[in-house]
Amino acid sequence: MITARQSTDVDADVLIVGAGITGLGHALAAIERGLTVTVLERDARAVGASVRNFGHACVTAQTGELLELALSARTVWLRAAAAAGFTARETGGLAVARSAAELAVLEELAGARGEQVRMLTGDAVRARLGGGDPAILGGGALRDDLRIDPRAAVAALAAWLETQPGVRILWRTSYLGSEDGVVRTSRGRVRARHVIVCAGHDLDLLHPELADAHEVRRCALQMALVAPPREHRIEPAVLTGTSMLRYPAFAETRAAGALRAELTERRPDLVGIGANVMFTQRPDGSLIVGDSHAYDLAHPPFLDETTSQTLLAEIARILDVPGLRVLQRWQGVYASSARQPFLVAHPQPGLTVVTISSGVGMTIALGLAQRVLDELGAGTLAASGA
Ligand SMILES: Cc1cc2nc3c(=O)[nH]c(=O)nc-3n(C[C@H](O)[C@H](O)[C@H](O)COP(=O)(O)OP(=O)(O)OC[C@H]3O[C@@H](n4cnc5c(N)ncnc54)[C@H](O)[C@@H]3O)c2cc1C
Repeated sequence: MITARQSTDVDADVLIVGAGITGLGHALAAIERGLTVTVLERDARAVGASVRNFGHACVTAQTGELLELALSARTVWLRAAAAAGFTARETGGLAVARSAAELAVLEELAGARGEQVRMLTGDAVRARLGGGDPAILGGGALRDDLRIDPRAAVAALAAWLETQPGVRILWRTSYLGSEDGVVRTSRGRVRARHVIVCAGHDLDLLHPELADAHEVRRCALQMALVAPPREHRIEPAVLTGTSMLRYPAFAETRAAGALRAELTERRPDLVGIGANVMFTQRPDGSLIVGDSHAYDLAHPPFLDETTSQTLLAEIARILDVPGLRVLQRWQGVYASSARQPFLVAHPQPGLTVVTISSGVGMTIALGLAQRVLDELGAGTLAASGA
């Protein structure tokens, strides 16, 4: 049982709810500013969106504010990986084009971005894949993307944070609410100068008024882990035409309109399941493959086999292999708002809520956390000395 200290005292400068990448990113940013931190995580370890994703920091394909946050997050990923002993690989990304419309999107982006996006021939793309669809016309090498193993990184970052002075993570402890610096948890009360809620899609349970105001729903995605298709290592995170409809740097090109029309006409099977056909390789050679997108306030837990088969067949075609051996399947869920890719709200004094409301948490959360801590003012948070 956590016991409250004297009313003049605090248990931590900052209390963070959630040990996913957003919560851990805020814990890291807080200790880098000399603050003491308590993290509450309701599960025995992080099992949310942060361990269910591709581990792709999709930096290059962002624009504007998201690109700024992604570049900032990139430096934090590299710093955190070196400190905590997990791998963040500067592999870049590889966008594969199998039609003239896809190639046109990449050429327009490469023209605008210079060194950040370099055009590749079809043969160069196939060489990077260790073989691939004869229909591949070319591709774009996305310079600034990182590849992180999501299953290892979040656990390693949490374990390292727990060794740092002034940090404690209270696992299996749920946040129930806070008033005037007193935080109610499922194991008692904690006092903190400031509370930062980073509860992912559970925003709708903890702060339904914010979820409603920002039109946040839950996005459910179908994913799979498949056995190494061949011995060749595929270093970059691999994106395809459907990805070009989702990430802003592609989707904002003039050429994207024609690609959208082409895919809607030619590939209703992919467009109908909201596909973003992509894959990343884990250190053991297995591939994380996906994904589909469904938006609702709640989702059935049942995975749809037709959706899985559509995605697997498409990835086998890109790799030019007869089929893929599935090792695992799972559903991932993240918060999603058509209005904004992330939200930072201050619903009451001493309380900040941070939610990544699109599929870019691995790309921007670590950069957003730095910005949130700067805006809260570390000096103010530590002012009366913990
Ligand atoms: C299938 C899939 C693929 C994706 N691919 C990518 C990708 O390649 N690149 C990318 O940038 N992004 C990707 N994303 C998005 C990214 O994974 C998310 O944006 C990010 O992980 C969100 O992190 P989070 O910490 O906010 O949420 P989560 O990881 O969901 O963490 C929230 C934590 O809060 C805890 N919590 C909730 N309520 C409470 C409470 N009351 N008390 C205590 N703890 C609580 C939960 O237990 C959970 O551990 C993907 C997402 C999915 C699902």
